[in-house]
Amino acid sequence: MRLDLTEKYDLRVPRYTSYPTAPHFHPGVGSELYETWLSHLDADSELSLYLHIAYCAEMCWFCGCHTKITKRYAPIEAYMQAVLGEVDLVAAKLPTKMTVRHIHFGGGSPTILEPEDFVKTVDRLRQRFNVKPDAEIAVEMDPRTATEEYVIALKRAGVTRASLGVQDFDPKVQEAINRIQPYEITAQTVAWLRQYEIPEINMDLIYGLPYQTLDGLLNTIDRAVAFEPKRIALFGYAHVPWMKKHQRLIPPESLPDTAARWEQYQQACDQLVRHHGYVQIGLDHFARPDDEMSIALTEKRLNRNFQGYTTDVATVLVAFGASGIGSLPQGYVANMGEIHFYQQAVAEGRLPIQRGIAISEDDRLRRRIIERLMCDLEVDLDVIAAQFNRSGAEFDDELASLTPMIDDGLVTIDGHVITVTPEGRTLVRAVGAAFDKYLKHGEQRHSKAV
Ligand code: SF4
Repeated sequence: MRLDLTEKYDLRVPRYTSYPTAPHFHPGVGSELYETWLSHLDADSELSLYLHIAYCAEMCWFCGCHTKITKRYAPIEAYMQAVLGEVDLVAAKLPTKMTVRHIHFGGGSPTILEPEDFVKTVDRLRQRFNVKPDAEIAVEMDPRTATEEYVIALKRAGVTRASLGVQDFDPKVQEAINRIQPYEITAQTVAWLRQYEIPEINMDLIYGLPYQTLDGLLNTIDRAVAFEPKRIALFGYAHVPWMKKHQRLIPPESLPDTAARWEQYQQACDQLVRHHGYVQIGLDHFARPDDEMSIALTEKRLNRNFQGYTTDVATVLVAFGASGIGSLPQGYVANMGEIHFYQQAVAEGRLPIQRGIAISEDDRLRRRIIERLMCDLEVDLDVIAAQFNRSGAEFDDELASLTPMIDDGLVTIDGHVITVTPEGRTLVRAVGAAFDKYLKHGEQRHSKAV
């Protein structure tokens, strides 16, 4: 893939973890509509739950998450009381005690919770829902705040997957992002996870960080792989100081330029795939060939949700916590991001919805097309359109808009089958954007595709 093509097509398009994407959510969708949507869910459908723990002990300057910094536990305790209150409110609106096949704790830092509070939270979920015995329970972990007691609590709660935030092992990079995490701390957390038999371990790495060098990144990859994680996520640092003010603490001149960033991404992929034998999934995920995600990729049943690529097939994602985003067959709902308002709403017995969007049949069709492109790097418009009683020929304008990408060897089109070439993989978001009906309306600023 040529760097000039990356620059040519760097349209700053969305990551498509949803469609329509979050900037199109609006306040017309609120608590009452969400209540109706919940009560009309098919009682037999299976749920996926997401819990957002919106606190961290310290701000990492690269952070793009929704989080708040605290050194005290009292605000976290009050917050978790609200989260449990929200769990009760949602469960009461559902048609029945519904089945759950997947639970994900994200943040923020779930590891900021007292171990007992973590167990209590999972217990409450088990009381309000039928959590399947083989449900995946995944937790994002910050090794800096993880303790042995916490890992024991994970085991007691039935956690099956832990994703460790690593980013980069280079102390100079860690200092520049205000995240001092000596290698030994990560190693100790992995050792506890192995000791207490948490079966699956993932690691999150980032390229494009301040003062990050190519050699440093490759060294980080080698050290991370030595822990034998089943999956590795390799995200590009998104420098968006106009949205995340703390990122202004990262001097722009310390960031790798576009060419260096590009080289980092290419070499890192090569190192993971050719040298270490991982399977690349989409743009930024890597999995061992025997991992469920690699198998799902081969069998074309990989999906995409707000956590990125997933093997989760639940049709309903219910989110809890400030800023959590849920996905229901009827549409998307986003919780209030401001913790105070979130807690107040729950205390008053209201579902804490701030905005959302009802989705049309056309949205569902376009979402399926974009999702298949993002997951399989290929889509047959005739097949997908037929599932919606539509025709692939209706998308001829969108196909025509891909002509420059065809000329540049990034995409091939055969009839109504679009295939993203290996050269075009990094620009798959831009291919998906051709089917995004909303993108043309209104200005948006997204992070770089690579
Ligand atoms: S620990 Fe994670 S969520 Fe918290 S500030 Fe750092 S990157 Fe952001």
